[in-house]
Amino acid sequence: MIQIYGAGVAGTFLYYLLFKNGYRVSIFDVRKSPDCRCGWGIAYKEARELYSEIEVNLDDFILTKPEKVVVNGIELKNNGIAIFDKLKLLKELWEGIEFKKCEAKLIVDATGTKREFLPKIANDRLVPTLQFMERHENVENIYIHFERHGYAWAFPLGEYWHIGAGSIFENKIPELIEKLRLKFGFERKESVCSCKAKIRMLPPSKCRPFVHRNVVGVGEAIGCVSGAGEGNAPSLKCAKILYECIENLENYESRILTELKWVEREQRFLESVLRGLPAIHLLFRIIPHESKRLVKHSILDFFRVFA
Ligand SMILES: Cc1cc2nc3c(=O)[nH]c(=O)nc-3n(C[C@H](O)[C@H](O)[C@H](O)COP(=O)(O)OP(=O)(O)OC[C@H]3O[C@@H](n4cnc5c(N)ncnc54)[C@H](O)[C@@H]3O)c2cc1C
Repeated sequence: MIQIYGAGVAGTFLYYLLFKNGYRVSIFDVRKSPDCRCGWGIAYKEARELYSEIEVNLDDFILTKPEKVVVNGIELKNNGIAIFDKLKLLKELWEGIEFKKCEAKLIVDATGTKREFLPKIANDRLVPTLQFMERHENVENIYIHFERHGYAWAFPLGEYWHIGAGSIFENKIPELIEKLRLKFGFERKESVCSCKAKIRMLPPSKCRPFVHRNVVGVGEAIGCVSGAGEGNAPSLKCAKILYECIENLENYESRILTELKWVEREQRFLESVLRGLPAIHLLFRIIPHESKRLVKHSILDFFRVFA
């Protein structure tokens, strides 16, 4: 028997992969129903392929595929980000599950930033975020206001938008959101929901151990979040790797560190920037990779954004 704790994007995906392939598996979440707490951006191609393995058609949940990503006023071509209704998708997946806690040989820690079952991480970096859902009629692009310590975003969801920000300095978050509003014309509106949450910004290698006694971690619990704060597709990928290693966990750590090396690289870049260390050499690997899977940009664009 395998017991999963945490039914976010990683836990639910892993549950269905195991269940559909004949494993005895149980899942439990402390929440009664899923909540939003995410911008709902996703790397479309990767996620669509992964979800198809549990017979979920991601297209049924896509709200929009914005044409451009506008960062600090610089317009970039969106190559692969779609906005999906994560709440609806999780609700549908939860409908097929009865949450239970069972005696199990293996426990999966899919509790995200909480990392409730694996040993705590020394010098963990949990970055605070704040997000609102508001109605706007702006052109359906993704808008970003970037600063060294964090960034604010506006993600189109159809008639509503997610407007939010995250920063290593919590007190700077309102200011980041205000700057985004001014720059891109999102006036302050009544919010239909708002949430405060944290996001783990550490390279996966610093979130070890991934396996401890009879507990194995998956998703954000083991740092599968990119330097730009993208955790949905990386957490799905991580869950797929765990599924493939479930009979032989010795290979799990090395597979995560190899197959999600790009996440490690982006987090290393971020860490170097925060510490004021040289990091430009990392951009020569990061930019081509991100241009292919998410947003088309160049080293020149990078410097224009921060000019
Ligand atoms: C404001 C914000 C915006 C974001 N926007 C994006 C975005 O646009 N695109 C993107 O790719 N990523 C985004 N991310 C990151 C992304 O949401 C996460 O990385 C991703 O959801 C991680 O998935 P997970 O399943 O590992 O963890 P989670 O989605 O956090 O799920 C963990 C689950 O564990 C449950 N849990 C906690 N403790 C326990 C316990 N003791 N027992 C049982 N269950 C427990 C929780 O209730 C939760 O359901 C954003 C994050 C934030 C905070």
